[in-house]
Amino acid sequence: MIKAKKSLGQNFLTDQNIIDKILNVVEIGNKNILEIGPGTGNLTSAILNKNPKKLIVVEKDDNLADLLKDNFKRKIKVINKDVLEINESLLDDEILTVFGNLPYNISTEILSKWILNIDKNKIWFDCLILMFQKEVADRIISGFNSKNYGRLSVLVNWKLEVKKIFDVKPRSFFPKPKVESSILLFKPKKKFFKLNNPKTLEVVTRTFFMHRRKMIKKPYNQLFNGDLNIASKINIDLNLRPQNLNYETYLKLAEEYEKLRS
Ligand code: SAM
Repeated sequence: MIKAKKSLGQNFLTDQNIIDKILNVVEIGNKNILEIGPGTGNLTSAILNKNPKKLIVVEKDDNLADLLKDNFKRKIKVINKDVLEINESLLDDEILTVFGNLPYNISTEILSKWILNIDKNKIWFDCLILMFQKEVADRIISGFNSKNYGRLSVLVNWKLEVKKIFDVKPRSFFPKPKVESSILLFKPKKKFFKLNNPKTLEVVTRTFFMHRRKMIKKPYNQLFNGDLNIASKINIDLNLRPQNLNYETYLKLAEEYEKLRS
């Protein structure tokens, strides 16, 4: 009997109906699949039933990784590592389709890492089908001028197209999480704004979204030393609130901040 580890965000999906719905989001047959956090292998065995060309899984838990190796033998490649420490672009020569019922405590960290590492000359995935806490999913998909719009929405919109597929109730898992979850589908954008140092986007959005209800005048002045030329060049009204700027404006601000620092 497997005892779920809270520290590794282990909530296993036990609802076969939901597993089938997740696997119907994109074509799997004859494709190269990567699964993050396969756990006890519920999703894994359902993926195998759809005859992928190859299935690679990344599981941090040593006991579960051994269990998966025993259960699935040579049908899958088990990488017993922390997903935050691997380089996905080196996992395979071919493009990967990614599934993951992600550990909630690091789900945004995983997604941010992938976004920051997307190189338009070599994109290692064609789509991501991922489960998040619903509250996090809502922040990811929010557009500007809405209450959940924030740093995560800006970062995701920069390089990915995203769509909510459906919500999942706590009763579909064991142990039951306290909150609802959502499945999101992401696809890489063919073209995206180029930043030499993506860290500048993080600095700009962190500074601007520090006080969501306040006007952006103060964070703007803090980053650009009160130089109003940049605001007029980008055409932003400093009386607006952070959620009123679309993601393209944040990218332009990051570019200007990059210039200032170089
Ligand atoms: N896919 C399984 C399912 O749906 O039943 C399990 C999902 S569970 C929410 C998250 C899984 O991610 C667990 O198996 C956990 O051990 C694994 N995990 C947690 N942190 C990880 C990390 N840093 N790298 C790789 N796997 C991790």
